[in-house]
Amino acid sequence: MNKDLQCNIHKNCPILFIDMLQASKKTLQCAQCVSNKIEEISFIYIPQVTNIEENLFLNNWPPISDNQLRKKIIQLKNENEDVIQKVIDFYDQLTQEIIKIISEKKKEQLIAVEKTLEFKLKIVDQYCKMASLNKINQFLVNESQKYEEIEKALKEQIDSQYNRIDEYTTILQSMIKQYELISKFNIQESTQIKDNVIELVKIINLFPSNNFDVSDEMLSLDNLAVYQKKLDQEYEINKKDNVKIELLINQLDICNKQLSNKINQLDWYLDDYLSSQQILIAKYQIEKAEFTNELQKIQKLSPKDIIYSSQNNSQNYIQAKLNSQGKILIQRIKSGSSYNECYINYVLKPQKKYLFRINLFQSKNNFTFNIGLNQYFNSYFLNNNGMSFQIQQLTQNQNQENQIIDPLAVAKTLEFRVCIQEQLMEYRNYPNYTNVVTLNYKKSINTNGQYYLGIQFTQDYLGDKLEIFDIQELDQFPNN
Ligand SMILES: [Zn+2]
Repeated sequence: MNKDLQCNIHKNCPILFIDMLQASKKTLQCAQCVSNKIEEISFIYIPQVTNIEENLFLNNWPPISDNQLRKKIIQLKNENEDVIQKVIDFYDQLTQEIIKIISEKKKEQLIAVEKTLEFKLKIVDQYCKMASLNKINQFLVNESQKYEEIEKALKEQIDSQYNRIDEYTTILQSMIKQYELISKFNIQESTQIKDNVIELVKIINLFPSNNFDVSDEMLSLDNLAVYQKKLDQEYEINKKDNVKIELLINQLDICNKQLSNKINQLDWYLDDYLSSQQILIAKYQIEKAEFTNELQKIQKLSPKDIIYSSQNNSQNYIQAKLNSQGKILIQRIKSGSSYNECYINYVLKPQKKYLFRINLFQSKNNFTFNIGLNQYFNSYFLNNNGMSFQIQQLTQNQNQENQIIDPLAVAKTLEFRVCIQEQLMEYRNYPNYTNVVTLNYKKSINTNGQYYLGIQFTQDYLGDKLEIFDIQELDQFPNN
């Protein structure tokens, strides 16, 4: 270090710190300079840098524009959760559980084999018993008996055994049947199940599978775009993988429940199982179809998709219908009430971005429409929940406030943008986008909330109407 480096303000004070702030008035600082502004954390102690402790970690350097990002990195550095141990534990446990089940099964099956072997001997034994050779033998070994006596006794014995021919046959038939039943060695099906289980075990991942291999060359300005593109691709793959796994888990879950429910049940018919599988598949198809329908519904709105608030008997005062272009038109049809409102019967998906393009027709120059979000149709007026806009006066001339204007003229065309998750709600003039009005109380939008788009006619002016001519559900807003 340059030992002669001294402060140009404080005499004879060696320079000890660097002020890392951008556009700092004085980058080289002595101890006195620093003590004057002790609250600043932008200083680096020079000896640390000159001794170059390898990988010296600073909480305020290098410069990055995202504070959250810095926090995450500092957190990474301080994190000492033992993930490795968790992975080891998970697989050890999995291994143990599987080994336990399998070794119990093995014992159980060996006992079953023993039983069949015993039973096999029992059948042979039973067959021998029925032959009653010992009895026959008795007659032959008895030396005191004469030929005729032996002939007679044997004949009787043989006849008596013939008398039991049906009994013998039925008993042996039953025993063989039982044996065949219990000794059926089912290697083929068991192998199939084994293969399936092995495939399943292969799917178990604690971390997402990915093709990431970020080389040092990637981490340069030249390759940054490539890196980001790759990152986006991996995100997409990961998203799809997650969906697949979720579906698989659902399927397995249902199969599992059916297995444990049904396999112990005596009257488990294959028909039941197949039909429940069909129901399951049908359910997915319906969900998919509903999803598509919903999308079509919001894009091609019909009057029956409009729900009127019961507040102030709104259905009596405003009405939706299709105009000649097939677009939805909502208008005041009767006077005598104000603050009448209606909703599009479609729950906005929090993660999606919505565009609603609307033509406003106003009969008078006054604040007349409120447009915004509501969680319920009937409990709160749209203008009271902090999530709506009172569409600003359409002309600037205050004197003309109550002047009647041409009811056929479009007073204003607006584009509403809504994204629940981002607590974003704004509107702009369309298509020029010269003015943007953003919702002030963003925080009132719950990022996971269920919201409907609502329209309120605040004034009792017959002839007020609006036309929703375009609705889009998007992943990204257009760039303007
Ligand atoms: Zn100084």
